[in-house]
Amino acid sequence: MTSEFEFELRTCRWAEREWEPAGSDAERTVFVARQLGTKRRRWDTLVLECDRDGLRERANFGPDRLDGNLLHVVRNAPAEWGYYRDVLPHPGYPWRYVRESIHRADDRGILETRRDGNRIQIRRKWTYPDWLERIVAIENKPDLDASAARALGGQLEYDVAMALADEVWVATRKTGDRVEPVLLEDLPIEAGVIALDPESLSGEIEWYPRTLPANEPGTRILERPAGNDRDASAARFEYVDPQTKADVRLEIAERAYERGWRSFLETMRPDCRHFQLQSREGNQLTPHCDAKGRCQTAAECSSSCPDVEPEPPVWRTNGWPIEGGPGKRYRQLLEDRRRRHRPEQ
Ligand code: SF4
Repeated sequence: MTSEFEFELRTCRWAEREWEPAGSDAERTVFVARQLGTKRRRWDTLVLECDRDGLRERANFGPDRLDGNLLHVVRNAPAEWGYYRDVLPHPGYPWRYVRESIHRADDRGILETRRDGNRIQIRRKWTYPDWLERIVAIENKPDLDASAARALGGQLEYDVAMALADEVWVATRKTGDRVEPVLLEDLPIEAGVIALDPESLSGEIEWYPRTLPANEPGTRILERPAGNDRDASAARFEYVDPQTKADVRLEIAERAYERGWRSFLETMRPDCRHFQLQSREGNQLTPHCDAKGRCQTAAECSSSCPDVEPEPPVWRTNGWPIEGGPGKRYRQLLEDRRRRHRPEQ
């Protein structure tokens, strides 16, 4: 039995190995992240299709994400020195916040600054590249019963109307039936369907998605009627302009770039003596709890877990690998793998 969390990690690994970006392989590459999105909608797995050269140039700006304020500064910074208020477009909020972002960019070494009297001048260090090509969102539902399908149907309708991602997919456990049960559920036809065997990591595409108009205005569904006889209210929605969508997409991509999907340790207790990493098909390490005898979820693996026990200090000071504090050996292992999938300077 695979929990939703474990299935999600397996989907991430499958996507990392198998996903074929649209367009030529030589020009595009992919990386994968999990549990990202907006205030209203968070996706389980995100596949980012990127321009290969652009992604390499993005590495100049370091491994940490650039938030919306930093992006405003580095994307608009000129090649020649200029007073920041003259050279940057008005941000739509007070200039003092822009000044603060300039200092942050300077501290991170991604922008050049100098003073002319009490005026701050800026100049770009590198052009911020156009690295993001497409965002593909995958919802993981290993066991899609009727009630899970209803809930998922609403979420997918929201995604299709908003079109923030270029494609949305559902990944479900492969049953081997002639017709995979997921296809019999009432899901929007714009969503693709992948049937995945989490053990062997083989996936089959059961239904191809439609490409969503990510560069056009989106419709945000705010409220929908309950759908029964007593509720005659109209659905409420609002339009979202293409520029806002483009900004949100890039901010999501920046967070994905920083985090990847192996960062699950950040919300778990790798310093617990029962915490293990298990080697799986596809050269993947997934968490395993010795006390529970299975893969624990991120929610279970916390300080409030009834079985939590700190790892003995001797594990940290005597033996393999020697360096580091609590849970450090696991963090290091996953961090190394995460880095391999994201080009560095
Ligand atoms: S015992 Fe609890 S805290 Fe420790 S590894 Fe297992 S789930 Fe995580």
